[in-house]
Amino acid sequence: MERKKFDLRLMDGEILKRQEGKLMFIPPFFYEGERSTYIDYSLVKGIGDDAIVPVIKYKLFSECSDIRHGFSTRMGGVSHDHLATMNLSFSRGDDRENVITNHKRFAKAVGYDWKQLVLSDQVHKTRIHKVTAGDAGKGITKESDIKETDALMTNERGIPLMTFYADCVPVFFHDPVKKAVALAHSGWKGTVAKISEKVIHAMGEEYGSKASDILCAIGPSICQECYEVSDDVIKQFMDNFGDASKEFFYEKENGKYQLNLHAACKYTMLSAGIHEEHIAMPDLCTCCNPNVLFSHRASNGMRGNLSAVIMLSE
Ligand SMILES: [Zn+2]
Repeated sequence: MERKKFDLRLMDGEILKRQEGKLMFIPPFFYEGERSTYIDYSLVKGIGDDAIVPVIKYKLFSECSDIRHGFSTRMGGVSHDHLATMNLSFSRGDDRENVITNHKRFAKAVGYDWKQLVLSDQVHKTRIHKVTAGDAGKGITKESDIKETDALMTNERGIPLMTFYADCVPVFFHDPVKKAVALAHSGWKGTVAKISEKVIHAMGEEYGSKASDILCAIGPSICQECYEVSDDVIKQFMDNFGDASKEFFYEKENGKYQLNLHAACKYTMLSAGIHEEHIAMPDLCTCCNPNVLFSHRASNGMRGNLSAVIMLSE
């Protein structure tokens, strides 16, 4: 198998100029292939100082006028040090007030009401929660009873779903026919347990979604060249994916492996009946770009959390 370098680096020096008051802070990527994402820059006013809040979006969803979606970067928030600046998680030791300010800004940039957010409680398993209007605000404005849940889905309007990342794989789902959306946190454990397939099946059972209608976007996350794993991880992929797993990794001289979670996720989606042209692959690696995106590996765990969000518009 030919290996293609995941050469999706942003230019750090340029990003640091972002305080200069211009809208376009992140320059074009060095990327030879066709981009699957683009970056929306919003000038958010009235939540502390004026701030530029970049939101990573998928071209796959650009025709879907009935959803809002996005993935955050480290930019546009108010958090400090290793949490700088757009940490969206309450579990990383950040000041609660800073996290709320970050949420308000990110919500304004994407276009949803932050008070309606429903947050996941991720534990690297495959539980899926069917979100309804009664869940609005859980995990942010009120106590949440959504526990040990790595995937959220809904067919109700105006309720943004949110999951958290710093190398693990975000997966966005949208069924434009039955009008349903979902998000899944797919780290190696979720990927080997085929959480994407479980979400696709759950959308079918709950909302009548056909796999052939569902659009899937695999979000910014660790690339194969950055993701070294041991044989115990590889063994689980071989057990669960059989011969197909050989396409997901290669062995190195040190006895370790480089694992491609994106390929495993795509294979899972295709096996579940998703059309290939309905799958968007990521074009941005968290670990290759630790100044722009939070990366657990690149920071040795000293990091905040990025967020994926998706909502059916009202
Ligand atoms: Zn990388």
